[in-house]
Amino acid sequence: MSTEYLSTEAKLYPVPKRLLDPSLSPTPHINSIEQYKKLYDESIKNPIGFWGKIARETLTWVTPFQTVFSGGFEHGNIAWFLEGRLNAAYNCVDRHAIKNSDKVAIIYEADEPGQDRKITYGELLRDVCRFANVLKAHGVKKGDIVTIYMPMTPEAVVAFLACARLGAVHSVVFAGFSAESLRGRIQDASSKFVITADESRRGGKTINIKNIVDDALKECSTVERVFIFRRTSSEVSIITPRDVWWHEEIEKYRPYCSPEIVNAEDPLFLLYTSGSTGKPKGILHTTAGYLLSAATTFKYVFDYHEGDTFACMADIGWVTGHTYIIYGPLACGGTTILFESTPLYPTPSRYWEVVAKHKITHFYTAPTAIRLLRRFGREHIDCHDLSSLRIIGSVGEPIDPDSWKWYNEVVGRNVCSVIDTYWQTETGSTIISPLPCAISSKPGSATLPFFGIDLAVLDSTTGGEIKTTEAEGVLAIRQPWPSIARTIYNDHNRYFNTYLKPYKGYYFTGDSVTRDRDGYYWIRGRVDDVINVSGHRLSTAEIESALIFHPSVAEAAVIGVPDDLTGQSIQAFVTLKPNCSTDVNDLILQVRKVIGPFAAPKKIYIVSDLPKTRSGKIMRRILRKIICDEIDQLGDLSTLSDPNLINILVDKVNNS
Ligand code: ATP
Ligand code: MG
Repeated sequence: MSTEYLSTEAKLYPVPKRLLDPSLSPTPHINSIEQYKKLYDESIKNPIGFWGKIARETLTWVTPFQTVFSGGFEHGNIAWFLEGRLNAAYNCVDRHAIKNSDKVAIIYEADEPGQDRKITYGELLRDVCRFANVLKAHGVKKGDIVTIYMPMTPEAVVAFLACARLGAVHSVVFAGFSAESLRGRIQDASSKFVITADESRRGGKTINIKNIVDDALKECSTVERVFIFRRTSSEVSIITPRDVWWHEEIEKYRPYCSPEIVNAEDPLFLLYTSGSTGKPKGILHTTAGYLLSAATTFKYVFDYHEGDTFACMADIGWVTGHTYIIYGPLACGGTTILFESTPLYPTPSRYWEVVAKHKITHFYTAPTAIRLLRRFGREHIDCHDLSSLRIIGSVGEPIDPDSWKWYNEVVGRNVCSVIDTYWQTETGSTIISPLPCAISSKPGSATLPFFGIDLAVLDSTTGGEIKTTEAEGVLAIRQPWPSIARTIYNDHNRYFNTYLKPYKGYYFTGDSVTRDRDGYYWIRGRVDDVINVSGHRLSTAEIESALIFHPSVAEAAVIGVPDDLTGQSIQAFVTLKPNCSTDVNDLILQVRKVIGPFAAPKKIYIVSDLPKTRSGKIMRRILRKIICDEIDQLGDLSTLSDPNLINILVDKVNNS
C-alpha cells in the first residue's frame, strides 16, 4: 500500500517560513499550534465567554445582547445573542465608510479583461442606500423575501446589502440556473420581489437573463415587482407595471437610508443548497450569528490583515460567495475581488493575470477549478508574477492529495499556505481548516476544527461516539456555533429530520470522516456514497484520489452498485487529461497498488465529462441511477450543469 494515501503517514507540510517572518508577512493572528489549541480549548469549554467577547469586539451593536446562547440540538431551537439588535449592512459598510470612505471595498474584474473597476466603502454606502430607498419605495419591508438572480457585478453586492439594510431576506439564485430552477426557488420562498439584469456576460458569452426571469415568472403569481439592472444595454422586454429599471429608479432617491435595526435572530438570508444529493433545501441563516462567524473565520482562517486583497472565485449564488466574497470580507472592512468571468476566458491564464494585476494576497477556489487548470498545464501559470499570494484555499469537495500538491507547488510556489476548508451551506462558514500560520497541513486533510466547533466521530451503525483519537465514522458536531443554519424555510421538520434527528443531541453533517492519530480530519465523501465491498467500507474520496494519482487521469467519480456476491461493487467514471490515453486495466492496477485489491473497481468508464452541479460538484447519485438502469428515477435535476450529458453517459454505459 502506498504511503501517499495513508493518512497517518502522510507527509506534514509545515507553515511556510515566509509567513512567520515579520519582514516578509504581516504578524499572524495565530502563529503556533499551541496558541490555536489554547484558544480552541477555551472556545469549547467556555463558549459563552469565548463568543460573547468576540461578538462584542467584532460587531457593532445598537442594543447589546445579554444571552450569548440558548436552545440546542435536542429541540432544534438554537438562538445566539438574543437581546442584541444590529444591522448587517451597517456592519459591512457604514462603519468602515465612516472610518475611511476612500478604502476600496470591491474590485470588480469584469468579464472582458481591462474593464475592471474599484468601488470604495464611501461609494458602496451611497449605492446601497439609494437602492435600499428604491426597494422601500416599491414596498419591500423587513422580513420580505427578495430573490436575487444577477450576474457577478457590484450591483449584485449592492442588492444583497440593500436587502440587509431594510431587514429584508435575500434569496440568491445562481444566474446560471434555468427558468424552471429559478421558478422553483421563487415559489418555495413565495418571493414578492426579484432583482435581475437585462443580460449577463460570462466567458465572452451574453445570456439574456431577463428572458429567463420572464419565463420563470409565468407561474409565480406572488411576484409583484422586478428590478432590472442594465448590464449590457440590449433591448429586453419590459412588462409594465411589474418591471422597473434600476438606473431610472435610483435617480429618484437620496443616497442615504437609515438601517432597519433587527434582532440578532431575525433572518438575513435564505439560500438553496447545491443539490448534490437530492432536492435543494432552503437553508435559513440569521443576522448576528452568521455575520459573526463569517467575520471571525475570515479573520482567522484566512489570516486576513489590513491591506490584503482577497479573491474568492466562487459565484455569489453559492454560500462560499455569500460568506467569503461579501459578508466576511466586508464585515472586516477588507477589499474583496468580484470576478465575473471564467478561469478560461479569454485564456487559461485569466486567474493569474488577475492575481498579478491586483496583487492578490488570498486566492480561494474549488477542486474542480484546480483540476481544470491543471489539465491545461503550468505554462499558463509560470509566466505570471504570483509573488503577492500568501494563502491559497480550496472548498466544495474533498481535494485529492495529488491536486493539492500541484496547487501548492505551481500556484503556491511552495511559499504559500494551502488551506483546505471544509464546510456546508448549513454551517454558514468554514468549520474544519488549517489556520494558515499555525497548523501544518497534510494534503487531502482539512486538518483541525475551527474555534467553537466541537467535532465528534460517530459509529454509523450504533450511533455511539468513537472516543479514540484514531476513528472512522460519520462526522457530527456536539454543540451549536453562531452560524449554524436555524431552519429550512417553511420546513422545520425536514431540518430536524435531516440534521438533528439521525443522532440525538448532535448535528449530523451527512459526511463520512477519518480522524488520524494526530487528530486530523479527512473528509471521505458523503455517507450515502460510502461503498461496502465484502465488509470493507470504502470512501469515494479515497478511491477517486487513487485514480487521479494516475498521470493520465483528470477527474474521477466512484460509485457503489448492488452486487450479489460482494454486497456492493465499485464502478468508476474517469475523464482524461488532454492528449492522454490509458488502458482501463492500468487504472484498475493503480487502485490495487495504492489502496489494495479489495478496492479495485469492477468496471471503469472513460468518459468526456462527469455530471456536476452548477457549482462544480460531482453528482454521484446520477451515475448510480444510470448504472442501475433507473434513469426514470433521476430525482431533482435542477442543479445539474449539463443535462445533455445524461444521454451521452447512458449510451456509453449501454455500449460498454
Ligand atoms: P445538498 O446538500 O443539496 O446535496 P451539497 O451538500 O453539495 O448539496 P453544499 O452545502 O454546497 O451542498 O456542500 C457541502 C458539502 O460539500 C459538504 O457536506 C461536503 O460533502 C462537501 N465539501 C465541502 N467542502 C469540502 C472539503 N473541503 N472537503 C471535503 N468535502 C467538502
Ligand atoms: Mg449537503
